[in-house]
Amino acid sequence: AQGSCRIHKVFETWTAKHGSKLALVDDKFSIKYGDLGASVEAVAHELEQSGVRAGDRVLLVSENCVVLAVSILAVSLLDAWSATVNARLSPREIENFLTHSGARRALYFSDVSPQAKAHGIQQGAVNVDWPGVGELMIGPLNEAAVPEPVETDGSRQVAAMVYTSGTTGAPKAVMLTHANLLFIGANGCRMRKIAPEDVVYGVLPLSHVYGLSSLLMASLLGGAALHLVPRYQPDVLAHALENDGITILHGAPAMYAKLLEWSEREGKLLRAPALRVAQSGGAPLTLPLKQVFESTFGLSLQNGYGMTEASPSICQTRLDLPRKDCSVGPPIPGIEIRVQGAEDSAEGVGELWVRGPNVMKGYYRAPELTAEAITSDGWLRTGDLARLEPDGTVSIVGRSKELIIRSGFNVYPIEVEQVLNAFPEVVQSAVVGRQVEGNEEVVAFIECTKGMGIDLQALRVHLQANLSPYKMPSEIVVLDQLPAAATGKILKKELQDRAARKVI
Ligand code: ATP
Ligand code: MG
Repeated sequence: AQGSCRIHKVFETWTAKHGSKLALVDDKFSIKYGDLGASVEAVAHELEQSGVRAGDRVLLVSENCVVLAVSILAVSLLDAWSATVNARLSPREIENFLTHSGARRALYFSDVSPQAKAHGIQQGAVNVDWPGVGELMIGPLNEAAVPEPVETDGSRQVAAMVYTSGTTGAPKAVMLTHANLLFIGANGCRMRKIAPEDVVYGVLPLSHVYGLSSLLMASLLGGAALHLVPRYQPDVLAHALENDGITILHGAPAMYAKLLEWSEREGKLLRAPALRVAQSGGAPLTLPLKQVFESTFGLSLQNGYGMTEASPSICQTRLDLPRKDCSVGPPIPGIEIRVQGAEDSAEGVGELWVRGPNVMKGYYRAPELTAEAITSDGWLRTGDLARLEPDGTVSIVGRSKELIIRSGFNVYPIEVEQVLNAFPEVVQSAVVGRQVEGNEEVVAFIECTKGMGIDLQALRVHLQANLSPYKMPSEIVVLDQLPAAATGKILKKELQDRAARKVI
């Protein structure tokens, strides 16, 4: 069965079963399950006409929209690889992705980003108009692009090249196979019991693996309607939750933090009458945020842990076993995990390793990097530190790269962030280390409720009451906004650099 599995077939069972139901929706277009196949074929045909062949990479420069989702499936139909990047990137960054991926063509989706249009025109794009699908610009043909060999086995054939978030440095290009994406899609669909009645809010970018597998694949496999939203705005989300019958919401913690902050600041009541699953993932969830969310909506906030290299899901809390803490729950069914080196640690903490059908094929054109990440017997080293609890659930304590060692003591940034976030005026925070004369200091960056001053003295008192002295930040820096990726993930590398330069 694996042999023929391809992501463009993900919605097949619904084509006849309920063809009149909406599959993909955005502000301008909507496509029904019965018409989706024809749209995918139409786009694939245009791409083929434009010179795209099996094994080619196709760069998709877009924010979330129906045409992007259809194009990802169309690229798969041609046995090419999609590489989606955010349309808000600068022309220089897009140029870098084009060069790195060796893409045959880049597609620019003008409707969702005027900036993308500018890039397209600069590069001499041709405009193509597909009725009912929207306008899409195809960049110039790269004659020198070399196709990758096509594998008949979907567990070997690459469906998408997905860039990591770049939290710890330059983004890495991860090759994910059809089987990787379908495995996680099916898993998300089962775990959330996604059904045709569901309406999924799709603001996490499809350029990120979370959007690609947990939103797009899982929704189409379940026959749900996926609402594609180009960019996150708390008021737009609040409106959709109240009026659009959203049943499933996915977001990174920053999105939830900003929604709750907005509602408090504007004095707007949040209501989500149809919501039955609220899922956080992609970055550490903190207890204060989880508690406020849950008391606001009367619904448990689920936590999932994963990484691009694992398509992305590794651990997930279960709907029927809501948690009071920030555990990420047990590993998802069908994979194996182990905590390497936990036996030698007083705290039972070690590096989390994972093995199973969710593990990437490798990093693109980087065999040494791939060999460092995946052991010869298939274990993916996550680089995250974790503890396996007696009940089989996992607690993530932080990234090994972010561990701060202060005077010989381990400081886990997440723990300090938890305490910072519990202070009422703190919306979100990020804690990093700074090297000083052979030791490491703790530096905290915080984002505060807009329009309200923060009493740093009172914050220090709060920290002192909750943290051992060696975990206390040497410096607390208030920023208007923490630097973030399109998912809302905080770009810690930027903050580490900033802390190191001491120009704060
Ligand atoms: P880069 O690899 O480019 O530095 P990144 O690791 O942030 O960026 P992603 O693959 O998007 O890129 O993120 C995966 C990482 O996010 C994990 O390795 C982990 O550190 C963190 N993470 C994801 N989900 C959770 C969670 N629920 N709790 C704690 N950490 C999480
Ligand atoms: Mg990473």
